[in-house]
Amino acid sequence: MTANESGIDEFSSPDTMTTKHVRGRVYLVGAGPGAPDLITLRAAEVLKRADIVFHDALVHSEVLALASCADRIAVGKRCGRFATAQQFINKRLVDAARKHQVVVRLKGGDPMLFGRAQEEIAALRAAGVEYEIVPGVTAALAASAELGVSLTQRGVARSVAFVTARVGAGERASAWADAALQADTAVIYMGVGQAQEIASTLIARGMGPDMPVAIVENASLPSARCVTLCLAELPLAAAHGFTGPALIMVGAALAVLPDVFPATVSLGAAAA
Ligand code: SAH
Repeated sequence: MTANESGIDEFSSPDTMTTKHVRGRVYLVGAGPGAPDLITLRAAEVLKRADIVFHDALVHSEVLALASCADRIAVGKRCGRFATAQQFINKRLVDAARKHQVVVRLKGGDPMLFGRAQEEIAALRAAGVEYEIVPGVTAALAASAELGVSLTQRGVARSVAFVTARVGAGERASAWADAALQADTAVIYMGVGQAQEIASTLIARGMGPDMPVAIVENASLPSARCVTLCLAELPLAAAHGFTGPALIMVGAALAVLPDVFPATVSLGAAAA
């Protein structure tokens, strides 16, 4: 790793947050849910022009390969034993915009959903750096497609909530359970590790223990897998050994699934 890759020289720059020397534009780009052909044409075009790309760990290698002229730098949670601190990423984006014309921050799914985009936007604004957002296909929509289940099935579901039960230290308490109870279909991001707590909270708050649930892992990839359960069985999720990114989907719209799939199925081409 060079000094530049470690970011230490950039981080120590004393005038990082001034508007001096800013020449580039930072693009916050959605890489989609996993499959490399699920990025947008706009994302592909920006990646081709990129001078430097800061990407999440789970971005597919074929997507990164589109940025053939760029330095590609892994940042974010799964990239090492320690998460790259968000403030550090913010600074690196600002510094990169001084040196390069096209800076890309490539995030899984859609950059504006559960992706800390607002913190990066605030840092860019404060430093007078131009930015642009390129939306992406969020995991919930890839999972819906993977299952062949509409999240807004007519006559069954007219509302969808994207929630997470994860609240970081010092963050305001979240009303995720209220949203999940009120929406006809709830899609819970980053929830598999908290399956027990999610099930007990929703049941204690009045959701039926027999409410249909699906857990979808690696949606859009050949390794996609689905487990169907009911809410009372959700704590058994841990027994299924999920290692990839997975969503918990809850609601009457999922009731069609057990007719279509047995309890656990591999959905992608890898299953063939
Ligand atoms: N911005 C992303 C979400 C980031 S939070 C988006 O719009 O999709 C990361 C969480 O997203 C994971 O913990 C998991 O719950 C979900 N996720 C991301 N990719 C996924 C995939 N291919 N299949 C299932 N869930 C996925």
